[in-house]
Amino acid sequence: MKKLKAMNSETYRIRKFLDDQHGVRVALVNATEAVREMQSIQSTGPIATLLVGRAMVGATLMASQLKDGEVVSLYFKGDGPIEKVFAEASFEGGVRGYVAHPHIDLPDNKGSVDLGSAIGKGLLTVVRTHPKRQSSQRGTVEIQTGEIGDDIAYYLQQSQQIRSAIAVGVKMNEFGHIEAAGGVLIELLPAADANIEVIVEDQFRRAGSISEAFARGDSAEQILDRYLGGFKIHELPHPHVVAYTCKCSRERLLDAMELFTEEDLDDMILKKKPVVARCEFCGRQYALELAEISDIRNRRFSTKLH
Ligand SMILES: [Zn+2]
Repeated sequence: MKKLKAMNSETYRIRKFLDDQHGVRVALVNATEAVREMQSIQSTGPIATLLVGRAMVGATLMASQLKDGEVVSLYFKGDGPIEKVFAEASFEGGVRGYVAHPHIDLPDNKGSVDLGSAIGKGLLTVVRTHPKRQSSQRGTVEIQTGEIGDDIAYYLQQSQQIRSAIAVGVKMNEFGHIEAAGGVLIELLPAADANIEVIVEDQFRRAGSISEAFARGDSAEQILDRYLGGFKIHELPHPHVVAYTCKCSRERLLDAMELFTEEDLDDMILKKKPVVARCEFCGRQYALELAEISDIRNRRFSTKLH
C-alpha cells in the first residue's frame, strides 16, 4: 500500500525543466486523478468534464511557474450553453474546478465534438493572488477558440508578453470514464530568439496528443523528447504533487450569507429551518444553526424581527 502511494505521488508530481541556453522553460503535469475527482464530485457530463478538466490542467501548469503560495484562477465566461468554466490552482499543486452547467450536450459533428461552441464567444479572465497579499493581478482577454489551450496561450502573449506553446488534454473512453488528463506548457524567455520559436512550434505540431501520451503511460522523458527533442533541458526541483483541493470553510460560507437580503434571512428564521449549504467544488456540506443566522441578521440590520 505504501509503495503504491509512493508510485502515485511520483506519477502526479509536477515536473519543471529549463534550457537556459536557448531560453526555454517547461512545465509538465499528469492531472488524471484530480480531474477524476472533480468528475466524481460534480457528476459532470462529457463536454463539461473535457472543458473543466482542460482548464484545471492549464491552471496547474500556469501556477507552477509562479512563486510559493500563489494561486491562479481561470474564469471563462461565454455566450455558449456551458456559460462558465472556472479552474483554480496553487503553486503547490492544489487544484479545483467548477462548471455552471455540468450536463449540457452538443450535437455530434460527424463523430467529433466542437468544444469551442460549448463556451462560445466571451472573455477569459485570469486572476493571480497570494493569500498573504491584499493586491491581486487581473487580466482579461477575448476567448479565441474556447478549446482552453489556445485561449491560455493567447492570454500569456497579450497580458504577460510570454510566447508559449501549450497542450492540455483529457481523454475519456466511450463510457465517459477518464483515461488520462494532463498537459505541457513551454514558455520562451525574453532572451529566446525567433528561430527557437519556429523550432518549438514545429515540434509541437508534430508531437501528437498529450492525453493519448499519458493514457499510453509514456514517461515524462518520452513526452518531452517528442515536444523538445534536441533541447538541452534539465529538471528544476519542484516537489509538488497535483491533487484536487478545496479550501472552503464554515467562515467562508458565513461570509457568503452576507449576500442574502434582510428578507431572505428573516424568511429562514421564521421558517425555523436550519440551512444546509453545499460547496459546489467539493460537495462538503455545512449546516448552520438558526442562532448563527439570527446573529448575522442582527449584525447587519438594525430593525427588529417581529
Ligand atoms: Zn469545498
